[in-house]
Amino acid sequence: MSRLVKNIGDEDWARQEVIDTALAMSHSQLSPGKSGNVSLRFGDKILITPSGMAYDDLLPDDIVALTLQGEILSGVRLPSSEWHFHCAIYQAQAHVRGVVHTHSPYATALACLDRPIPAFHYMVAVAGGDDIPCVPYATFGTDDLAAHVVAGLANRSACLLSHHGQIATGESLAKAYGLAHEVETLAQQYHLACQVGTPVLLDGQEMARVLEKFKTYGTQPEA
Ligand code: 13P
Ligand code: ZN
Repeated sequence: MSRLVKNIGDEDWARQEVIDTALAMSHSQLSPGKSGNVSLRFGDKILITPSGMAYDDLLPDDIVALTLQGEILSGVRLPSSEWHFHCAIYQAQAHVRGVVHTHSPYATALACLDRPIPAFHYMVAVAGGDDIPCVPYATFGTDDLAAHVVAGLANRSACLLSHHGQIATGESLAKAYGLAHEVETLAQQYHLACQVGTPVLLDGQEMARVLEKFKTYGTQPEA
């Protein structure tokens, strides 16, 4: 819940939304300890969590404003070490307005096996395709990792990061945050199914049908 009165277009409110999302992420166990980072596109700026600071201590001025190229516009804090991939995503995908990166346990466990989440369940389509890919490993906070992420997200709104975690994007920060939870749930369900046997996968034709239905799923007529 925001501590400020919601006023879209107000940068203070946008900074508070970044903090609230980071707090929700850690309180929901999506982000064990202090891992992960959050950003929001605000006009032609990116507002991003500072590197290595406990979320509980964050104040709006601790959120760092960057250009799309990653130059610091204001503030005394250093931006998340992952500013490279946050900026690269916003540069590559004009519709993305929020990015959430976490080391959530089940998604990270699969990523440590270099395994994508295949079409074992129709909800995999929530990330825009018939799998949630796992992009190759590169050291955190590098342009190499950013390049892998941009390629992995070319036709998807989420991906796993080998030996690292997951990234979810959205047309709003709330949608990106919700998708990070979906990815973690799917990773957990896939993990559970793998304990019992080899999950049976849905075929491409069925996933295409689901992807088509997802274009309108959840839209309700005006009350
Ligand atoms: P930051 O604290 O620099 O955002 O790094 C956390 C992280 O998850 C690195 O991948
Ligand atoms: Zn990370």
